[in-house]
Amino acid sequence: PNKVSVQTLAEKLGKTPAEIIKSLMMRGIMASINQEVDFDTASQVAEEYGILLEEETQETLEEKMFEEEPDSPEDLVERPPVVVVMGHVDHGKTSLLDAIRKSNVTAKEAGGITQHIGASTVEVNGKKITFLDTPGHEAFTAMRMRGAQVTDIAILVVAADDGVMPQTIEAINHAKAANVQIIVAINKIDKPGANPDRVKQELADYGLLAEEWGGDTICVPVSAVTKTNLDTLLEMVLLVAEMAELKANPNKRARGTIIEAQLDKGRGPVATVLVQSGTLKVGDPIVAGSTHGRIRAMMDDKGRRVKKAGPSTPVEILGLSEVPSAGDRFYVAESDKQARHYAEILAERNREQSLRATPNKVSLDDLFSQ
Ligand code: GDP
Ligand code: MG
Repeated sequence: PNKVSVQTLAEKLGKTPAEIIKSLMMRGIMASINQEVDFDTASQVAEEYGILLEEETQETLEEKMFEEEPDSPEDLVERPPVVVVMGHVDHGKTSLLDAIRKSNVTAKEAGGITQHIGASTVEVNGKKITFLDTPGHEAFTAMRMRGAQVTDIAILVVAADDGVMPQTIEAINHAKAANVQIIVAINKIDKPGANPDRVKQELADYGLLAEEWGGDTICVPVSAVTKTNLDTLLEMVLLVAEMAELKANPNKRARGTIIEAQLDKGRGPVATVLVQSGTLKVGDPIVAGSTHGRIRAMMDDKGRRVKKAGPSTPVEILGLSEVPSAGDRFYVAESDKQARHYAEILAERNREQSLRATPNKVSLDDLFSQ
């Protein structure tokens, strides 16, 4: 896909194909008008003309298609924090999420593998918190690599009887790179070998100094089994969220991120999405990745049918033409026609990487014009 035809390159650079063919020849490349050259060669030719050639990413293309006015402050309202639970294997991520949700996924898990159900919302003191289920670190990394900034807070689970382990460190690095606030849940404090102070000591080595030791990392000793201190942990999440002043405008067309998606035999493509701004409604025409559709039905995390979903709300949606990828962004379009059209353009980009040509900031002329 990283190729461009001589014809297209000439158009992008505002030159004739003959000029481009000549430039290529000077580089020892014999090409006809319909032939393709690789992106590196194309950008070198562009540079000759003082033009910076960039690959059009899916993100930049989407931003152009769904460009929107900045929100005015009075349109912004508080939104729930989006939280992810991370940590080393067996330190109690699933148990903790379960205890928080008061459901019991762990018992149903086959072979101890975390069953992925997407995302859920819990309510604490009348305020909502949205939890994303991460089926291991890969999904989270994949989402982040694709530019999806979805989480506000990471709860880092560290077993009090085991301490900081390789995946704990990995989780710290992921959260820091993604600019996500970390709250530490020191789990399994009910166990005889539990040593929360040792955990704090080890975390300090990775730049997470506990508040009670003069740092700014909130550490809450908890037990997912005896359900100790879970309310404190959730209160801390709300406190951190409040300080971050998380806001969004609910009164516009929705956009957000695909959390997971699969093909359901009976229902067709099914996607769990997180609405990040605006309000998503049944009947909305949407674009997700290079797929599109009209929302036929929406279900909340408890499987109840809903007609609309505001910022920070996870919902399962039906009505897409194909299965999008986790980490894809979704946008509500103005019409079905526009949704289909934009999806086609995005699909086209995936086939042949689009190029964007802009005058180079530092051209040869600039260098010698002092
Ligand atoms: P995950 O791999 O991080 O999702 O960990 P799990 O939630 O599957 O828990 C791993 C094991 O630790 C299971 O046997 C849990 O029952 C146990 N466990 C989790 N939390 C606690 C806790 O607070 N106390 C005790 N004693 N055991 C726990
Ligand atoms: Mg698990």
